[in-house]
Amino acid sequence: MSSAINRRRFLGSTAFAGLAASTAQAATMKRSATRPVVISSANGLTSTNGGATSCVEQAYRLITGGADVLDGLIAGVNIVELDPEDASVGFGGLPDANGVVTLDSCCMHGPKKRAGAVACLKGVRTPSLVAQAVADNTDHHLLVDEGAQQFARSMGFSIEDDLNTDHSRALWLEWKRRTDPRHYPDPASRAQAGQRVGLEMVAEGKIDANHYYGTINCNGVNANGDVCGVTTTSGLAWKIPGRVGDSPILGAGLYVDNDVGAAGSTGRGEANIYSLASFLVVEFLRQGMNPRDAGMAALERIRSHTIEPRLLKEDGNPAFNVNFYVLTKNGEHAGVAFYADEESKYAVCDEHGPRHEPMEPLLPS
Ligand code: ASP
Repeated sequence: MSSAINRRRFLGSTAFAGLAASTAQAATMKRSATRPVVISSANGLTSTNGGATSCVEQAYRLITGGADVLDGLIAGVNIVELDPEDASVGFGGLPDANGVVTLDSCCMHGPKKRAGAVACLKGVRTPSLVAQAVADNTDHHLLVDEGAQQFARSMGFSIEDDLNTDHSRALWLEWKRRTDPRHYPDPASRAQAGQRVGLEMVAEGKIDANHYYGTINCNGVNANGDVCGVTTTSGLAWKIPGRVGDSPILGAGLYVDNDVGAAGSTGRGEANIYSLASFLVVEFLRQGMNPRDAGMAALERIRSHTIEPRLLKEDGNPAFNVNFYVLTKNGEHAGVAFYADEESKYAVCDEHGPRHEPMEPLLPS
């Protein structure tokens, strides 16, 4: 889908239509005074863990009720982390190559200028709450694996043996059966075979494409202009045990500056880490770019850093997707990606209620 079509759809489908400025740039932004807004990846509206409330609604309700912005956002993403139907986050997230679910999360509190993160955490369904506890109770930013789990235990989190659901375990068994690790003579070909089989399972509809690479990033601002953000994920499906993606890396999967805004990411974490692109988005906002252009500029940076043939399509563009969810201090927002079709959305909740808005693509699909 072209950007032009996306813009037309946007104009026709939002309550802001009458307010939209004449330029295409302004049309892709949702202008406001300082007013509470919560945005997230699309699963922040589709996942409800069997209840009636989604992540963005819960966060918006709490934030407009006076809760701390980060507390509100984390209560929102907890819904997705606990939802066994979302196989990209928390409980029931797709496991690593050994069948173990390991979780990454990062959160950042704009006004307090504090952040916390956990990586490769096993046994806790809500890694975002552990990340918040790292920020609130330690002098550190990032705890990993056994240390993160011990910390979580000491903070009173219950530790479970296994965060697989029957669904995530069955998919892992299928992947294992297909890849047969005895036949991989070196790590590179093993990784490529694993990736190929994973993508085959997506193409066959066994795995939702959003859950192969899947995550939730959620950013919010309250009436005071206080900005916070959180990202939480089970990371790349079937990853090499110990692999950590961009989600818990400050500046990559998330960055917040209370003077400017917030950006977070989903998609191929390795590509995002190389450019610390959420930090870059926030810096572009600081330089005066609108959310859409800031996100697009960061995508361009990632594209220019992607030179390995195995990561490129025939036309020379990236063979993977990266998405950014961008929110300014005054409530403007955008969702951008390398590739987006009519199904590609991000979630928003503001005074007009919860809804999906279209992601804008940098490149033709
Ligand atoms: N960015 C996450 C990671 O690389 C995965 C995703 O968002 O799909 O771990």
